[in-house]
Amino acid sequence: MSDDIMIEVSNLTKRYPGHTAVADVSFAVGRGEIVGLLGPNGAGKSTILRILSCFMTATTGTVRVAGFDVFHESDEVRRRIGYMPENNPLHLDMRVKEYLKFRARLKGLSFVRSRDRVGVAMEQCGLTHVSRKIVGQLSKGYRQRVGLADALVHEPELIILDEPTVGLDPNQIRSVRQLIKDLGRHHTILLSTHMLPEVELTCSRIIILHEGRVLASDTRENLQHQINGSGQVVAEIAASREELVACWREMEAVDTFDVAPADGEYFRCTLRAANGEDLRSLVYSEARDRGWTLRELSRSQASLEDIFVQVIRREKEERV
Ligand code: ADP
Ligand code: MG
Repeated sequence: MSDDIMIEVSNLTKRYPGHTAVADVSFAVGRGEIVGLLGPNGAGKSTILRILSCFMTATTGTVRVAGFDVFHESDEVRRRIGYMPENNPLHLDMRVKEYLKFRARLKGLSFVRSRDRVGVAMEQCGLTHVSRKIVGQLSKGYRQRVGLADALVHEPELIILDEPTVGLDPNQIRSVRQLIKDLGRHHTILLSTHMLPEVELTCSRIIILHEGRVLASDTRENLQHQINGSGQVVAEIAASREELVACWREMEAVDTFDVAPADGEYFRCTLRAANGEDLRSLVYSEARDRGWTLRELSRSQASLEDIFVQVIRREKEERV
């Protein structure tokens, strides 16, 4: 395995009694990447992260972290991973600093090193001013920071976060996301989420997981390109609906379209190209030749939500 690869998952399958949660999943995460495992509830995200963090064994397949096998060399793997589980269980009756020291000692850090590392982790996660507070009395956002500090305390190379912003309010979400981004400058991060904006704002690469399978794995830009090339084109034109519909239907480069009334005599036409080509010049010449008044012509990129929906739709079509 190359030194540049932090995680290598090959043909991973996990079966629970009567249910396959993860089916033949393979992916790799390079050193220094922030990768988002994106999928709806039940997709198998937590199962994969638990296996990666040595909390659960796989049914078949191999997983290597920093070159070590998670089944046969789990001590080496644990030392290199900081894992924040879903719903992040904490000892609510302990003080922040006390809790983190306890966790650091549990992870095998010496007394002196645990003291130093707890200081650094609290600083990194903005916890220094609440170090003497009882964990159970902190807001959800601060508890999540305690979870992050816990994941960081033994200075792992890889941080694994399972739904890190679930249950937080918008302000807390923003600050936890910023924290994750900051951590990404010095760590490799794999996080799971069912929320599209999460991967959009924090991750350099996205792995889309659905019903235990990987449907896509790429940068957001490449996914957009795969899905609809240069995107869809929106044109606002003054003409009759019949003329517009007939025109787009005849135009070979157009795959699908909508024509919706705008104000006055204008219609808003949304056009998607069959082969990902940019339709703007075609639309412009058509309008000029037919003497239509064109007041808007723009190209829009697919949102991550469009990508997600289309990737899942494509998978379903391929299966039937
Ligand atoms: P996600 O984190 O993406 O929501 P999970 O990995 O938690 O998905 O679960 C994947 C699937 O496996 C779900 O259908 C879930 O119901 C099932 N599952 C999870 N844990 C268990 C378990 N311990 N026993 C049986 N089924 C489980
Ligand atoms: Mg989960």
